[in-house]
Amino acid sequence: GELRAAYSEANPRSAERHERARRSLPGGNTRTTLFYEPFPLVFDRAEDGYLHSLDGDRYLDLLGDYTAGLYGHSNPVLTKALHAAIDEGMSFGAQTDREERFAAALRGRFPGMELLRFTNSGTEANLMAVASARAHTGRSTILVFRGGYHGGVLSFGNDNAPLNVPHRFLLCDYNDVEGTRAAIAGKAPDLAAILVEPMLGSGGTIPGDPGFLRMLREEATRAGALLIFDEVMTSRLAPGGLQRALDVRPDLCTVGKYLGGGLSFGAFGGRAEVMNGFDPAGTGARWAHAGTFNNNALTMAAGLAGLEHVLTDSALHELNARGDRLRGRLSAVFAEAGVPFTVTGRGSLLTFHPVSGPVSTPADLANANPVAKELLFFYLLDRGYWMARRAMVSLSLAISDQDCDELVATVEEFVAVHGAALRDAVL
Ligand code: PLP
Repeated sequence: GELRAAYSEANPRSAERHERARRSLPGGNTRTTLFYEPFPLVFDRAEDGYLHSLDGDRYLDLLGDYTAGLYGHSNPVLTKALHAAIDEGMSFGAQTDREERFAAALRGRFPGMELLRFTNSGTEANLMAVASARAHTGRSTILVFRGGYHGGVLSFGNDNAPLNVPHRFLLCDYNDVEGTRAAIAGKAPDLAAILVEPMLGSGGTIPGDPGFLRMLREEATRAGALLIFDEVMTSRLAPGGLQRALDVRPDLCTVGKYLGGGLSFGAFGGRAEVMNGFDPAGTGARWAHAGTFNNNALTMAAGLAGLEHVLTDSALHELNARGDRLRGRLSAVFAEAGVPFTVTGRGSLLTFHPVSGPVSTPADLANANPVAKELLFFYLLDRGYWMARRAMVSLSLAISDQDCDELVATVEEFVAVHGAALRDAVL
């Protein structure tokens, strides 16, 4: 209560803007994940690794727009490519040279993408991948996992079921090898696809066990179903995504987020045998897939410039190594103080969970202490750190080792101030 009162007092312009926004947007919001009580901060400017609030404060952007902001806010290469694209004309209603180059760059990157198509979001990419699997197999059941998030209409984390697309879903527990194997065996003749994030993203940055993912590969093949990797978040964890890092090849995969250089983006692709169904002049199914902005000039320009000139393999490796070091140090801070927080993730992605751990599936979060999470969020906010309200961090190229050192020191302070209460579970 005290925290929230202090927050409201410190951010009057965000509060006032929230009241106005509620007149046009339900809850003042058009992107659910950005909402938190009592009202979210409003930002009006950003550069490099920083965000500036309407209330005049500067925050280190540890959220990196839920992984879409990998390049930081004002990368000069992307900015230049975008200005040039604007000058060339923005909406052609025709094919462009750049879309071919961008598609080739993606194809070269992800082994599971022999052919691909662009969309405007990760959600759309997943909807298309699932539809392709159903059309290709002539079957209807889609196996998904509790805690999985593939977009607002393919969401299995909370009570979103009424909004999900009306597919026949079979729901299993993430990282549960035996349970999932049994469920697949029971549904094999109607199983069109297994849709899985190789690391749960929104569900808490919980890595998939390599053995679990390999089992999905084997069982999909045995059942005659397609394995779809949703790599919208995880594609940033290695140059070829987790599919290449773990050497598990999906039949179809989806990407999104940062690959569009910070603009609206998604893509789905996979084995040529499946994707050829979209060849408008082919001998196959000739499924239609349109989309006015699929090849929009700005996304194509920014995405291509990012891959060609900024995101070298070594830059990506360094970013993920920085995240691994940060996660290790944060975990040690909590462990040494005996404070019940577990930091999960891989590479440049991490989440603080207010539980003792280990955390290998969303069910392990059942006893999470929501007050502890709120306390950490507002503590960091008060000291100039912006992260997801669900306590997720996604590092961008604009975050330095020094930024990470300072974050660790701030979390040490948090533990010194609140550790006893957290340990004794009096919050
Ligand atoms: N899939 C995963 C794993 C995601 O994390 C997200 C977004 O958070 C999506 C799909 C949806 O992507 P978009 O928000 O671009 O529709």
